[in-house]
Amino acid sequence: MFKCSICNHKNYKYKLKLGKQPIVHHLLNNKNENYQLYDFNVVTCAKCAHIQIENPFDPKILYQNYFFFSSSKNNQHISLLIKQMTSLFNLNKDSKIFEIGCNDGHMLADLKKNGFKNISGIEPTKDAYSLAKKKVKNVYNDFFNQKFLNKKKLRNYDLIYSRQVLEHLYDLNEVLEAAHSMLKNNGKLMIEVPLHDMYIENYDYTFWEEHINYFTKKSLFNLLFRNKFRIFHHETILFSGKSIVIFAEKYKKKIKYSFNLSNEHKKIKNYFDGFSIFKKSIQKYLKSMKKKPFIYGCGCRSSNFVNFLGIGKLIECFVDDNKTKQNKINPLNHLEIRKFNINKLKNRVVLLGVCTEFESILIKKLKTYCKIDNIFSILQPSRILPTFWKNMIDKKLKKY
Ligand SMILES: [Zn+2]
Repeated sequence: MFKCSICNHKNYKYKLKLGKQPIVHHLLNNKNENYQLYDFNVVTCAKCAHIQIENPFDPKILYQNYFFFSSSKNNQHISLLIKQMTSLFNLNKDSKIFEIGCNDGHMLADLKKNGFKNISGIEPTKDAYSLAKKKVKNVYNDFFNQKFLNKKKLRNYDLIYSRQVLEHLYDLNEVLEAAHSMLKNNGKLMIEVPLHDMYIENYDYTFWEEHINYFTKKSLFNLLFRNKFRIFHHETILFSGKSIVIFAEKYKKKIKYSFNLSNEHKKIKNYFDGFSIFKKSIQKYLKSMKKKPFIYGCGCRSSNFVNFLGIGKLIECFVDDNKTKQNKINPLNHLEIRKFNINKLKNRVVLLGVCTEFESILIKKLKTYCKIDNIFSILQPSRILPTFWKNMIDKKLKKY
């Protein structure tokens, strides 16, 4: 049964059905390999308009054989974050700092390098925890909640932070309540999560089974205010699409937050309704090509893009530079993942399935070696989206 992960309300207002979907990071060794499919529905809470997966996938299945370590992603902005944290939060080298979901511990290691002495973190997945433990002494292999804090007697912290974690969690209030109790009075909180506002406005349907929550600025503010945190700064960054970083402070009571809910619902309805139009338009666009295009970059966003829109048969294959993915098969669409091959790609249309910050490097590579001029992106916030997509966004902009 549905229960909103922010406000606990039991009804949803709108539902976007994306059909039966696999776990996309479980790549196949051959086309006959069996795999399970799950209903993938995205809904919006009738009370607070928060966008979330209706029936989150079982984490035990989702995170088995988990091989993703966050330091493998480009984390250039971490050094900037450390500078910002230090000045905005007025930290000193003895400040007690804790990271929720520290993954392989790369940010804690950076803090250590910067001279911070009282740093610790928690990571529930075993493999990532073992790597983190090698970098920093005080790392726990557990789930972050009140029970854990009571067991370890962790209190009076100056700063708790969490990057790219809350979107994966269902028990958001439990985590924030625990964080509140772990902080000293006026203790600080920094949260970084993907921001979904841009996707709503631009008809982008890159949902992902690992992300239960699709925060907008409004829903995130609502979550923090109801958990007694006061926000004093926030900014958006280019990371895995678009993300938001919030700088907040522990407060003694809940903060009332009222925003125009009916407008929020209207915007989301328009976005959900746009899915079938988008699906038809992209199929028409791909069918109009003389030869099937390649998709460069086989990540979760580009794989789901193909599956949700049912365009597997209209694509040649995926190309990816990651050797562990090469020669494997993407589940559901059954497209092969091949390595970069100059001759095969020559004069073909290439759709980029990589984060925008890596776009220019790939464009240069494709133009130099393969003489390709028709390069488009399928991941926002790119400036080289296919024309039909740009038109769709422009039309809506005129309407508002
Ligand atoms: Zn809600």
